[in-house]
Amino acid sequence: LRAKYAPIIREDDYLEGIVVLLQDITEYEKLENMRKEFVANVSHELKTPLTTIKSYTETLLDGAIEDKPLAKRFLDVVVSESDRMTRLVQDLLQLSNLDYKQGKWNKKEIDINDIVKNAVLKLEVSAKNKRQHFNYTICDDTVHVFADKDRIEQVILNILSNAIKYTAEEGQIEVQVELKNNFVQIIIKDNGIGIPKKDLPRIFERFYRVDKARSREMGGTGLGLSIAKQIVEAHEGSIKIFSEEEKQGTTVMITLPTVDEENLALS
Ligand code: ADP
Repeated sequence: LRAKYAPIIREDDYLEGIVVLLQDITEYEKLENMRKEFVANVSHELKTPLTTIKSYTETLLDGAIEDKPLAKRFLDVVVSESDRMTRLVQDLLQLSNLDYKQGKWNKKEIDINDIVKNAVLKLEVSAKNKRQHFNYTICDDTVHVFADKDRIEQVILNILSNAIKYTAEEGQIEVQVELKNNFVQIIIKDNGIGIPKKDLPRIFERFYRVDKARSREMGGTGLGLSIAKQIVEAHEGSIKIFSEEEKQGTTVMITLPTVDEENLALS
């Protein structure tokens, strides 16, 4: 606690009282620590690929360029590390947009089935490449939500690509859209490596990863889930992740409010 004092003095100099302001700075300190940790993480994540790019390029300049197959392998690494940096910067820009441009949502009445279908179409090939079994069930009826189409699609893409990334070849991935009373649930379930219980409470934090090396190897930035959560919450929805045990797979449930057609007709 931080205390500040100010006397209240009347015109005839009589001390009438003292105002004491007690400020709880734990929240402030917590935020400040989070900010420092974030900057440290960003620097580290950018530095790692840069170091690799530099050392591979130097080795090429030192003569490795003469050995054609070796040079090609080195250059492939340079390209993939540059791609990683691009993805990281894109995710960071997206987070910064979410942080500072809260008002700039392009929300419209849309059918969530279409968004899920689009996302599935975009990622079906990656799942097929891993010979994963990919099922999706959408609702028979249209499900109207008031949402920013591109951003909700981004959420589904982030979750679905995680399911593909963290599930072995020939694994199972299911996507379901279920309409409840006044909300819709999008459930994405895999039978992949799962998430240990101890990591679940922190899994939506920026840069939090169960296995940093594995995530990097899979091309992850550690920002996908935190971006997803921020977008869903800006739509008055919620996102939950369940994973009973390691190797038992992971289920992500996104809940979004539906447009109340009756109220809409009345208004
Ligand atoms: P990343 O870019 O590392 O995938 P995310 O923010 O999308 O970052 O996810 C954070 C971490 O959560 C991942 O590194 C991974 O450890 C874990 N994770 C997310 N989705 C799954 C999943 N479907 N199965 C297993 N682990 C997952």
